[in-house]
Amino acid sequence: MSTHKTIYTVVATPDGEVLEHPELLMAGMNGMTVCRPDADELIPLPEGSRLFTVPNTPPIGFDARKGKFVTAERLPRSWGGDKVEAVCAFMAPAYTRTLLPAADYRKQRDTLPLWAYTAVGWCAEEERFYVAAQQVDRNTQWEPHRFDDREVSPGVDRYLAEYPDNRLLKQLSRCALDYHCFAAKNLFLGRWEAPLPTSPVCNARCLGCLSYQSEENECCPSSQERLSFVPTVQELCETAVPHLQQAENAIVSFGQGCEGEPIMQADTICAAVKEMRRQTTRGTINFNSNSSLPDKVDLLAEAGIDSIRVSLNSLREPFYTAYYRPRGYQFSDVLESIRRAKKHGLFVMLNYLVFPGITDQQAEIDALVKVIDNGQVDLIQMRNLCLDPPMYFQTMPAGEPGIGMKIMLEQVKKRVPAIQYGYFNRTKENFFPLNYEKDWPIR
Ligand code: SF4
Repeated sequence: MSTHKTIYTVVATPDGEVLEHPELLMAGMNGMTVCRPDADELIPLPEGSRLFTVPNTPPIGFDARKGKFVTAERLPRSWGGDKVEAVCAFMAPAYTRTLLPAADYRKQRDTLPLWAYTAVGWCAEEERFYVAAQQVDRNTQWEPHRFDDREVSPGVDRYLAEYPDNRLLKQLSRCALDYHCFAAKNLFLGRWEAPLPTSPVCNARCLGCLSYQSEENECCPSSQERLSFVPTVQELCETAVPHLQQAENAIVSFGQGCEGEPIMQADTICAAVKEMRRQTTRGTINFNSNSSLPDKVDLLAEAGIDSIRVSLNSLREPFYTAYYRPRGYQFSDVLESIRRAKKHGLFVMLNYLVFPGITDQQAEIDALVKVIDNGQVDLIQMRNLCLDPPMYFQTMPAGEPGIGMKIMLEQVKKRVPAIQYGYFNRTKENFFPLNYEKDWPIR
């Protein structure tokens, strides 16, 4: 951000009106520490993003006259004196937040649902919203305006007519039209990345699981219903092969938000991948997973997958275990899977669930560099963790303050120049784009 701009705190009145606070400048949070955003970490709110209120939670802003942070329970009398709540952004994909919304979460009554809450402000000069974030991926295929349901429905009808008994296609038609899953819409639009969910079960109990929130989790409702059956090899191939053969930039991906853990169905997936590759060598077969079973990673690589995306919130075992709550495996198994995947020559990505105040702790950065510094990992997807900020921060072991997410991104790139940043899976033709050393920062 070049020229000086005045960025105000954004608040909402009880009737939902969103406005800038007339006296308080924008603040954010690194972990639960309030801070002012640096000018160079502020970007205009990306198109397709949404604003949310943080119910019953007053915002915190910076009072430049008093030189301190202030909790705003109400607007100034001169502005009507209304009670106000904090406002945050949920950004369109391809952007990594660098600060959480600044708010007095002690007043919060309910656990917030599964979204990535991001600090937002209002720029008076430009009359637009700004967020504390960095763009990490140039791929524009996932921009919300590219998904028009009027174009999806005919594709759904065509597929269901051609394969009337295929349970997976019925599930995916629901994902596309009810859950508005972009990957499922891609399948019926015949382009880009399509999903292949396979597993009703999982061997982890992530705090922020999108498809299953148990009673004892007491977190919040899961975003979608988990798949209830294991597709057959035939159902998987009927869904995947036409897409691999015909779609532009074709990718099919195992491991979706509407299922448990695909590695639990590795034997079925291996058989399906072999059959897909017998029918076509075109397109990319990707495997999104918690990668908890290294022996299965060997089998999947031998069966013919092209890339693997390993999900984790931290490269430090206590932080990992506190979030994933693994059953029947350990963090070291995940690291072993990464080693084996690279040994088989797969393109290895991390689905790094990032959180300002945890991910940018120096000890976390050092642990990350230790794992990626020997070429085992090609790409880090800097994915914003979707979870109630105070709940996550309080669940994580205590640690040093974060050094700032933008500084973290710069430091890791400096220490491991070959590492790529991104937000999305890639086609095999695009695993190593020509100038990937220059892939960050994105201007
Ligand atoms: S590994 Fe995936 S399916 Fe399993 S609990 Fe975690 S988010 Fe849910």
